[in-house]
Amino acid sequence: MASALARFAIPVALLAAAFALVFYSAALPPSLAGLKVYGPYLVFALGAALATAFNRGCALLALVVLAGAYGAQQAWLQEGLDSPAARAVYAGLTVFVPLDLAALALLPERGAFNRHGAMRLGVIGLQAALIAWAATSGHAGAIDWIYQKLVDPAPFSAGRIPQLGTALIVLGLLTTIAAALVTHSATPAGLAGAIVAFAIAAHVPTASLTFSVFTAVAELMVAIAVLQDTFRMAFRDELTALPSRRALNERLAALGRRYAIAMLDVDHFKKFNDTYGHDLGDQVLKMVAAHIAAVGGGGKAFRYGGEEFTILFPGNSAAEAIPHLRALREEIESYRLALRGSDRPKKARGNKRQRGGWRGLDAVSVTVSIGVAERNERLATPQAVIEAADRALYRAKEQGRNRVVR
Ligand code: GH3
Ligand code: MG
Ligand code: MG
Repeated sequence: MASALARFAIPVALLAAAFALVFYSAALPPSLAGLKVYGPYLVFALGAALATAFNRGCALLALVVLAGAYGAQQAWLQEGLDSPAARAVYAGLTVFVPLDLAALALLPERGAFNRHGAMRLGVIGLQAALIAWAATSGHAGAIDWIYQKLVDPAPFSAGRIPQLGTALIVLGLLTTIAAALVTHSATPAGLAGAIVAFAIAAHVPTASLTFSVFTAVAELMVAIAVLQDTFRMAFRDELTALPSRRALNERLAALGRRYAIAMLDVDHFKKFNDTYGHDLGDQVLKMVAAHIAAVGGGGKAFRYGGEEFTILFPGNSAAEAIPHLRALREEIESYRLALRGSDRPKKARGNKRQRGGWRGLDAVSVTVSIGVAERNERLATPQAVIEAADRALYRAKEQGRNRVVR
């Protein structure tokens, strides 16, 4: 939960920075005047370059929506909302921006420059066309329905923002926050922050500085989320969400003089895959990884590769680590993963007992073998300790699997 909440740290910090910037704007040197106007376009360019380099379609489109909203504010809203054109543009922005940002938090990532990206961009283009058409004289009716009151009298006043816009902002915010809490990606949290920043900007549509600062900050949230996601992809394993081999290598380089390392391998896993299918195999790996991540004794879990995991015990001897590894082995052995109807393989019926493996028809279980070694004069480098743990793991397999061997 703490790590889920940490996802909102950067959006919240950026919102605070935006308030400070608007509040103390008089203190800014006049030479930065250009930034007040072009800042959102500069941040858009930076974010779009990152999103393009890393092929993040949802982030790129969110940046397009935010920069487009800023462009529309610059062109139509600075003079006030009295003209039919400004009224139409404002209504369109308050409805489409939160709607699009929330949708982009939910849509699957499909990359930037392909037919999916083009189709999504087309939908945004249609919205822009509708707004522009409504803004030209005589067509205001195309968008005026947005001002219709949903509840009268209003339960609360959101200033100028039409009730439908307020409703979509709240709904979009709840959706993006929920998405941020259930996925590992940083993008939904960035989009939640962007919706808040847009709502604040939309509250004062004629105040160009506020609109500019909050749009730039919203874009920055999306751009930073792209970087966070890239970092996560490099250092986290996608399937199990454990730190990856790359993260392990960095951690190994930072170890002190006293540590133990365990290598863990799932028993007969090839057979398990053959019997129950790769999907159920993946589910089992997730389950095993969750248990390993919760190992006691200060153990840090990594996915070494395939069905092999590494557990580091910084500051511990092998003797200190072994009771925790034994407890882990027992926990995994006694855990039953329930089969859903579609998972039940026909050919496994009657195949009730497998040596050192899984039993029963409606639930499956696996066992693991663990080899452990510690640093000493003979095994002076992390690489040597890992190799020794690997040899111990091999002995565990030879002795019949489902055991911890030093
Ligand atoms: P042993 O008890 O000796 O370890 O036998 P084993 O079958 O587990 O050993 P082996 O290394 O021959 O097989 C490992 C298998 O793990 C091969 C592959 O099918 C499976 N595997 C590796 N990575 C994944 C994965 O990400 N998902 C799934 N479902 N299976 C994987
Ligand atoms: Mg293996
Ligand atoms: Mg194995």
